[in-house]
Amino acid sequence: MTAKLLILGPSGRMGRALIEGAAGRTDVRVVAAVDRPEAAGLQIGSLTSTSDAAAGLDASDVYIDFTSPAATRSVAALATARKRAAVIGTTGLTADDEAALAELAKVAPIVVAANFSLGVNLVLGLVRTAASVLGPEWDAEVVETHHRAKRDAPSGTALMIARAIAAGHGSDYDAVKRHSRDGDIGPRPRGEIGVSAVRGGDVIGEHTATFFGAAERIEIGHRATSRSIFAAGALRAAAWVVGKSPGRYDMLDVLGFAH
Ligand code: NAD
Repeated sequence: MTAKLLILGPSGRMGRALIEGAAGRTDVRVVAAVDRPEAAGLQIGSLTSTSDAAAGLDASDVYIDFTSPAATRSVAALATARKRAAVIGTTGLTADDEAALAELAKVAPIVVAANFSLGVNLVLGLVRTAASVLGPEWDAEVVETHHRAKRDAPSGTALMIARAIAAGHGSDYDAVKRHSRDGDIGPRPRGEIGVSAVRGGDVIGEHTATFFGAAERIEIGHRATSRSIFAAGALRAAAWVVGKSPGRYDMLDVLGFAH
C-alpha cells in the first residue's frame, strides 16, 4: 500500500530532505505540503504548498512534522479531530505540546522520536548496556554539537542518550542530570550525568557519550553528515504507522528492535 503523505514545513531544512527522500520511494506519496503562511506557495513537482493544515490532513493518511513546538501542538489538535496518523520529529517540546500529542495518541497511531537515524537508535542501546555494566562509578558525560540555527538545547537526541545512561544506571534522570556547568560548582557528585551543548557552523548533528573510568575512558559516538538519514527514517516510520492501533510508538518499534 502507498500511504498518502502530508509534509509540514516543506521549506525547512528537514522538510526539503523529506520531499527529496519521498521522491525515491513507493511506500509513500506526498499528496499535500503545508507551511506557515509566509512560507507557503512553494512548488513541489505538481504540488504547491499551502497554509491550510486542515485541508492537508483531510487529504492524507499520515503527516510528518519537523517544524516548531507551537506548530506541532496546533496541528496535533487538528489531527486529533480527524484521527490522523502522525510522525513527529520536532524537538524542544514543552509539557503542553506533549499533552497535545498524548491526546492524538489516544485516537491515532503516532511515532515520536528526537532522532530518526538507525545509527543513533543503535547508540541508545549501546550506551544503556555500557552504563549498566560500568555503573555510576564511571562518570558519564554527553556532548552534542549542532549548526548555529538550532533553537533548542541540549538536543533531543542528547537527552535521549542521557536518559538511556540513567536507565542503565537504574537512576532517576531528573535527579542526577547536569545540563552544562558554570561558576563554583564543587566536585562532581557520583552518579551525575552531564550534558553539554556546542553550537556552530553547519554541523548536522554529533553526539558523544563518554564514560570516564579510573585510568581509562570509553567513548560511544555518532555523527550525522546528511539530513537524508533522518528523512529516510521518518518516511519509513510514516509507511509503517498507517493502520497501526492508536498509541505512541518510537523508532525502536519501527525498526523492530526489542525494548
Ligand atoms: P527549519 O527551521 O529549517 O524548518 C522548520 C519548518 O517548519 C519551516 O519550513 C517553517 O516554515 C515550518 N513551520 C513553522 N511553523 C509552521 C506551521 N505552523 N505550519 C507548518 N509549517 C510550519 O528547522 P529544521 O532544521 O528542519 O528542524 C525542524 C525541527 O526538527 C526542529 O525541532 C529540529 O530540532 C527537529 N529535527 C529533528 C530530527 C529528528 O531526527 N527527530 C532531525 C533534525 C531536526
